Amino acid sequence: MCGVLGILGKCPLVRAKRLLLLLAHRGQDAAGLLWPTDGGFTTAKALGSPQRVVVPDEAPEVVLGSTRYPTYGRRITSEDDLDQCAGPFASGRIAISHNGNITNLRRLTDREYGSDSQFIAERLDMHLSETGDDLVEAVRRLEDELDGAYSIAGIHRGRLFAMRDPRGFKPLVFGRKDNTAIVASESTVFDMQGVSLERDIYPGELIIFSPDGGMESHSISQDLTHSHCFFEYVYFAQPSARIENQLVYDVRFRLGRALALCFKKMDLEMPDYVVPIPDTSRPAAQALAEELGVPMREIILKNRYLGRTFILQSQHERNDLAKWKYLYLDDKIRGKTLLIVDDSIVRGTTARRIVDDLRQRGASKVYFAATCPPQTDPCYYGIDISTGSELIASNTDVPGIETFIGADALIYQDMDGLINAIGLRDLCLACLGQEYPTEYARRIHHHFKGRGLKPGTRDYERELD
Ligand code: SF4
Repeated sequence: MCGVLGILGKCPLVRAKRLLLLLAHRGQDAAGLLWPTDGGFTTAKALGSPQRVVVPDEAPEVVLGSTRYPTYGRRITSEDDLDQCAGPFASGRIAISHNGNITNLRRLTDREYGSDSQFIAERLDMHLSETGDDLVEAVRRLEDELDGAYSIAGIHRGRLFAMRDPRGFKPLVFGRKDNTAIVASESTVFDMQGVSLERDIYPGELIIFSPDGGMESHSISQDLTHSHCFFEYVYFAQPSARIENQLVYDVRFRLGRALALCFKKMDLEMPDYVVPIPDTSRPAAQALAEELGVPMREIILKNRYLGRTFILQSQHERNDLAKWKYLYLDDKIRGKTLLIVDDSIVRGTTARRIVDDLRQRGASKVYFAATCPPQTDPCYYGIDISTGSELIASNTDVPGIETFIGADALIYQDMDGLINAIGLRDLCLACLGQEYPTEYARRIHHHFKGRGLKPGTRDYERELD
């Protein structure tokens, strides 16, 4: 998961940096901006938040932004890695910012890339050379050879372009006002720039925005089966974002209502309080509390000041610091039956620590609810879990997970509740044990199922060859 930004129309770089901050939750490893300068492109990049990117006092006609998350496990830990791993990337006449993961990269190159985005930029530049600088034909050739997820904003000859893979895994939206066009992973960016959301870039579509306010839309792929990542709604996106015409906040609220049905089926004693684990589960917890007719209380607070230190430490230090992640309102916990709500349970270690913390503070019962069903399988489309063994639900059933986290009851969302809450049928649900939507990811998965892949490398692709 990464954040993608593209702005056409004079925009001070300081302002572009501020807009990029609205995508900081999509990638906290690094951030960067890129803009054309005489005969090439200039970049400004930094580890961590966009706030740390130092930009000159300029207002280029077109600019790209990127926030970076390690899509296949490699974290950026030093300034030396920035140019290799953090976008946006330029190659020859083209520059791009990308979100996603290419699953057949090893089929296409032997070269090691710090980021798929760098590979895509070079490939696109190669196809531009082959096609006499024809962007539409170059994108067509690129799309013919790629398998996986890619939502891209780019610059070509002073124009801004945007494209999505034929399945539309990752969100990408655009808005326009006068001669300004903005492309972004999430629509929240537009509000701050006084631009209204126009629509999503369609899966398989290429849009080219010109400085005179013109816009061309090209249908590169006619694939009618789409696979929008359900996890965007459950966890990644800001609640204020609108993806595929769905306000993420509304989806999360409906997830809470659906979760209430799952809770009622279990015939448990009513809790004293419904308690969200901040921040993503708050709308769901509110809806769940309303449906059950019990109050919601925010008795678990996030310690907001761990910042980048939390990310940059060794695994041992990270585990140690994780204990400091949450603060508790002890007075509201003692003697109470609590229904804790989180968006998902990945490794189970966070849920276990929270349940334990609440028991130590005197909770009489702790129920734990997750707004999405058990995640049983890895993601090859750009989420940092490329090995199934990292997921507790891949090898433990629900009673086993309940025992592991130490809860009095564990309530998972069911599949119908999830799909109905999102309100779309064409979702990617592969990490919930459903079929992978693209051929190469299916082949990787079937080849390695049960063997445990190695996070942080692309060995799973290489071995398949
Ligand atoms: S496998 Fe899961 S996380 Fe990955 S794109 Fe599909 S739904 Fe999203």
